Amino acid sequence: MKLAIEQERLASEIETLAAFSDAEAPAVTRVVFTPTDRKARAWVKDRCTDVGLVIRDDAIGNTFARWPGSDPSLPIVGTGSHIDAIPNAGKYDGVVGVLGGLEAMRALQRAGFHPRHSIELLIFTSEEPTRFGIGCLGSRLLSGTLSADAARKLTDNDGASVDEVRRNAGLTGELEQVKLPTGYYKAFVELHIEQGPILEREHLPLGVVERIAAPASLRVTVEGAGGHAGGVLMPDRRDALCAAAELILVLEQAARTSGAIDTVATVGICEVFPGAVNSIPARVRLSVDIRDTSLARRDGAVRALEEACRTVSSKRQVTIHSEWLNADAPAESGSAIVAALRQACEKHGFKFLPMTSRAYHDSLFMSRIAPVAMLFIPCHNGYSHRPDEYASPDDIARGTLVLAETLSMLAE
Ligand SMILES: [Zn+2]
Repeated sequence: MKLAIEQERLASEIETLAAFSDAEAPAVTRVVFTPTDRKARAWVKDRCTDVGLVIRDDAIGNTFARWPGSDPSLPIVGTGSHIDAIPNAGKYDGVVGVLGGLEAMRALQRAGFHPRHSIELLIFTSEEPTRFGIGCLGSRLLSGTLSADAARKLTDNDGASVDEVRRNAGLTGELEQVKLPTGYYKAFVELHIEQGPILEREHLPLGVVERIAAPASLRVTVEGAGGHAGGVLMPDRRDALCAAAELILVLEQAARTSGAIDTVATVGICEVFPGAVNSIPARVRLSVDIRDTSLARRDGAVRALEEACRTVSSKRQVTIHSEWLNADAPAESGSAIVAALRQACEKHGFKFLPMTSRAYHDSLFMSRIAPVAMLFIPCHNGYSHRPDEYASPDDIARGTLVLAETLSMLAE
């Protein structure tokens, strides 16, 4: 079988998809279920039907484009990613896995390959948390990580429920029906830009992802006492921001001293109330993100934060409340898929790096119901979620070729 990727066509399709945007080029803004997102998705679906793929949308809008295999009773080989984009993002995050996945299937068709297992391209709904405050909405529902009831309680930034929003987008059906049965997929493999600088720095064209780090996020609220910045003397203060500052530094220290470079902790949002220059902070809300490839280490950092909540609370006479937003387990890649990816790289003479994905992806949730693995390609300077995100057409084509080869091994 002679596999060839139509590199120019793929690059031009990525440009075309980027034009479906609510931001001015080169920025891409494509928030799930907006008219722009729906038009973009319709365009991708048309490209799938062009080559005979059979389309199905589920109740949350995950799109399945299937190339039926010669034995439809066998579990399916899946690939895909997402096309939603946070405000002011770039052209490649998710898109490379969707359009690359489609081109991989076309390349296999052109080469005369006939799969025994059906091959399916999956376009996940709302990988980005922009609209509903939770990432990977589609794959969480597919895998049962999020229940239909819990999904129904989510609202968007304007207070509209998931049900209202999806029905307005023309999606009927019950959310209960979204979850896939275990055994639906034989394997799921996602092509994605690295979103980090390692491959470029190491001058390696491909990364075979062997594990995906476990994310956890918490919201911590500190209640102190407000007052006049001039009137209340220091011994009498219960400053919520000063207490929060101690928590942030404890968390940083816990991540730095966990014993492994894989532990990362970030406080990305710090909301201060009432937020006036001459007013003592009465309340602070922190959004905390902690990730690790080891659940034990990650939870160690969480425990350090919780311990600090207790000591800081009594020392500073403030009330501290922490609430889990999500705590997901890490995923190990499926060994058979990793072996196929390595073999595909070797067959084409491409060097690769065994890697850990520190960002989470739909594959993390798909790992609850199927063996998964990911293939990374370099992205310039590791930039992602910004307009200057860039992956070269050569790198994208190489990743797509290895993906096609891997799909053929898994589906024959
Ligand atoms: Zn992504």
